[in-house]
Amino acid sequence: MTTAPEPGSSSGDTEPFEPHYEPPDWYRNPVEPAASVVGHSMGFASVTYERPGCSVCGAQQVAAVSVKRHVGMVFWWRTRTADGPFCRPCGITLVREMTTRSLWQGWWGLFSLLINLLILAENLDAYRQLVRLPPSRPAVGKSALRPGKPVLRRPLAYVALIPAVWAVVLITNIALHS
Ligand SMILES: [Zn+2]
Repeated sequence: MTTAPEPGSSSGDTEPFEPHYEPPDWYRNPVEPAASVVGHSMGFASVTYERPGCSVCGAQQVAAVSVKRHVGMVFWWRTRTADGPFCRPCGITLVREMTTRSLWQGWWGLFSLLINLLILAENLDAYRQLVRLPPSRPAVGKSALRPGKPVLRRPLAYVALIPAVWAVVLITNIALHS
């Protein structure tokens, strides 16, 4: 068996040339693409073109939606946005969590009453797009979020009844006394 010559050793002139080549990481540990489009394969490494998948899990069946939540207090408010694209389970998880938080944190200021209504409508629209998506697998090594209970089976969602009742009382009072 022949061994590669030591660098600088004179025996290298007589030994047959034996190239030492370290294959790159991607060759030794190939990662199988989850749902990528194979564009070319010639017996060497395939060239793949990944589409941008779900922002959370990389699944390929996605909707380009944003999900929002609003926190509205008397003198300040804040809106947080989770930008997609999202697959069905990840998107529905975010819609349920962020809608529930908006339903109990989003009402406590005059401007926030209006802003929160718009945000809830946007989340509902995002939800409608997400439920139409076919199921798809997450990318290798990632997992999708678990949607959990629907919004109306989460007790915190019913905090929204307090500002709703308050608004009805306020409007009734204004109507009766004007
Ligand atoms: Zn996902």
